[in-house]
Amino acid sequence: MNFTIKQALIPVTEGYTTLDVQIVDGIITAIGENLDVIGTKINGKNKLLLPGFFNAHTHSSEMWQRGIIPPLPLELWIANLYDFTPLDTEQIYLSALGTGVETLLSGGTSVVDHLVLIPGKELETITTAVHAYQKLKIRAFIAPLIHDESLSASLPKGKSLLQYQSYFRPTAETLAILEEAIIKFHRPEAGINILVAPTGIQLCTDALFNGCSELSNRYHLCRHAHLLETKSQEKLAQEKYGCSAVEHLHEIGFLNEKTSLAHCVWLNDTDINILAQTKSTVVHNPLSNLRLGSGIAPILKYLQAGVNVTFACDGACSNDGQDLLEAIKIGSILHNVTDFDYQTWINPRQAVEMASLGGAKGLGLEQQLGSLTVGKKADLVLYDLQSLSLLPRTDPIGLLILGRPVNAVNCVWVNGEQIIDNGQFTTVDIEQLKTELFNRSQWQIRGASPSVEQIESHYRQVMGL
Ligand SMILES: [Zn+2]
Repeated sequence: MNFTIKQALIPVTEGYTTLDVQIVDGIITAIGENLDVIGTKINGKNKLLLPGFFNAHTHSSEMWQRGIIPPLPLELWIANLYDFTPLDTEQIYLSALGTGVETLLSGGTSVVDHLVLIPGKELETITTAVHAYQKLKIRAFIAPLIHDESLSASLPKGKSLLQYQSYFRPTAETLAILEEAIIKFHRPEAGINILVAPTGIQLCTDALFNGCSELSNRYHLCRHAHLLETKSQEKLAQEKYGCSAVEHLHEIGFLNEKTSLAHCVWLNDTDINILAQTKSTVVHNPLSNLRLGSGIAPILKYLQAGVNVTFACDGACSNDGQDLLEAIKIGSILHNVTDFDYQTWINPRQAVEMASLGGAKGLGLEQQLGSLTVGKKADLVLYDLQSLSLLPRTDPIGLLILGRPVNAVNCVWVNGEQIIDNGQFTTVDIEQLKTELFNRSQWQIRGASPSVEQIESHYRQVMGL
């Protein structure tokens, strides 16, 4: 579709200016004053135009459990989560749609879905998520969540004689499923990308990491994983490798400029230098880190060391929503309490760049996405500056990031295709989605979790509680 946005407010180095933007075949072809209208005319008056943001780490199917898991640290929270996941593929479809919709309504045009796979129906799960994202037309980076160690292996042993159970499927079989998904679905030009995405050091052997690296090299894919989300994982890495998790991942060659790592809470200065050297990206999930008590990631240190950082919501039951603007806000101002030197604090324009260009960089796409630049793909968001939450008129980006924008997203395009027009979705029926989410769920509170009861005393012991 060709279109021209007339008179949109666009940030420039010194403030803002009003400009027109032409889009032809999904590419930004001109930005300037008084441009001819090519294709459809879009009224950009009193609206702010920004590049789309990246929700750079989430788990869509967690939507079914948002709000229900009690306040617990990651290791116990995840045991609780695993106890109650009887999902079917129809639910996978609806929660992928829901996650995409909420991402789009909060300024995101790309989503990295570290997709939890239904055991025994792995390929079907991936197929279903692909269909949901194709229907919605959000740019999707599907990162099938794979591991080859059982949940008990994710806890440090400490002084106990804890025996880890073995995982139900050999590593090679898991990699074969992943390769099948890559061959079948990895179509970047059509907006569907597959990532290699081992869960993290807490549940994966080196054989799995190496297999993922090999597939990433062979098929030119990005790499994604959780990294040192909790103190317990830092202890586990020392037990498992005798060095830090970052040193180990570097040693086995998993870190490169196409690797993005979610959380990164417990890294030391040597680790930070390794991330800078290898040009790895840190995905900051501030809300999840607060919700699970994981800690505050040293984001200002990363930025000072030259590490690329972007934002994400994380799964909807450790957040418990998918509002990307909220994650960007908290992920920015949170660090004002960790560092006294206010000159290093993240300002709203920097936050916008981290959320857009930073996200693109983390996926090796900074030449194609992440900024309002002629020649780049038209993944664009137009914000209504007459929305109550963006009034009165002050600094639009300042208020978008530091305020609490509600119903502020007016139009969204991905690859030049319009997904939201005047606040309304053009690709999916939101009323129907709401009805289906309602009908397939019920009001409830969660009772005791057998898996939590099994591991809680060991967890308390190794954490010195
Ligand atoms: Zn996660």
